[in-house]
Amino acid sequence: MPLTEFELISRYFTRPSRRTDVVRGVGDDCAIVRVPAGMELAVTIDTLISGVHFPPETDPYAIGWKVLAVSLSDLAAMGADPAWATLALTLPEVNEDWLRAFSQGLFDLANQYNLTLIGGDTTRGPLAITLQAHGFVPLGQALERSGAQAEDLIYVTGTLGDATIGLELSQGRWSNPIIAADTAYLSSRLDYPQPRVVAGRALRGIASAAIDLSDGLVADLGHILSASAVGAVVYLECLPLSPALKKLTVPWEKIVGGGDDYELCFTLPPERQEELERISATVGCNFTLIGTIRKSLGISWLDAGNQVVNINTIGFRHF
Ligand code: ADP
Ligand code: MG
Repeated sequence: MPLTEFELISRYFTRPSRRTDVVRGVGDDCAIVRVPAGMELAVTIDTLISGVHFPPETDPYAIGWKVLAVSLSDLAAMGADPAWATLALTLPEVNEDWLRAFSQGLFDLANQYNLTLIGGDTTRGPLAITLQAHGFVPLGQALERSGAQAEDLIYVTGTLGDATIGLELSQGRWSNPIIAADTAYLSSRLDYPQPRVVAGRALRGIASAAIDLSDGLVADLGHILSASAVGAVVYLECLPLSPALKKLTVPWEKIVGGGDDYELCFTLPPERQEELERISATVGCNFTLIGTIRKSLGISWLDAGNQVVNINTIGFRHF
């Protein structure tokens, strides 16, 4: 007998919560939660569609991990602490092996951040997963895109471009020599993004603007620039690359135009550099200075000799 809808919800998506702000989780018509005094609620939603965001045969554990990771990355970009999530799941069939692995990937990441799944919806149809995440940020302290000012420094966390090459590898589009360990590393950067939650929360009160890199640096830094009505100079030689990526010859367009990095890009008033250094040892990732905000609009990409490089990409767009 295949599972009924309610057996499925109870078996795979109902877990006890350690959070005292969840009054009622899965199992009633609505979840009931409490936002602590002095906090604002940060809310974000993302959809992953089979065949668009991941190939249908993707390991379901990785799908469960990633659908939460991309939303946690949005919370991180606002400096919010993750709290709760809701999940809308559209499944072509009840496949318990798939559900077991999917929910395990989701809960493994959720547990890292003490996030509770408080509700959702389960329907039949082509595989699609929508997750809404909720987080807290102290009143007025959210990191917005609009706060960058001329002379601010531009930083990114982690390394750029790994996931876009991971995608080429997984689709058989990478034909140059590469060793197995590097293939495994780059694929894991695509499948298991590590949302920069700790860094984002530490940047509250320090960064002047922030965004997470989901569609490529060119597009996402572009969002900070247009929201802040400023421009930027970016030094290509400063972009942080992983050891695996450094061994390959990857054009700049792929590094700054490829999506799925899920690193943070933020701006910093120059007088706050010492504060940044003080937190950098505790956030679990590197901060790399890649450029400067300036008054004149647009992005100038400069090479090691300070010559302007023409970057011919706009990043990832669905439409
Ligand atoms: P209703 O019909 O009142 O909308 P549902 O029958 O859709 O409720 O869901 C029953 C309960 O299970 C609700 O608390 C809902 O939030 C929860 N739920 C449904 N699907 C999921 C899911 N995929 N993950 C987590 N909770 C879910
Ligand atoms: Mg109801």
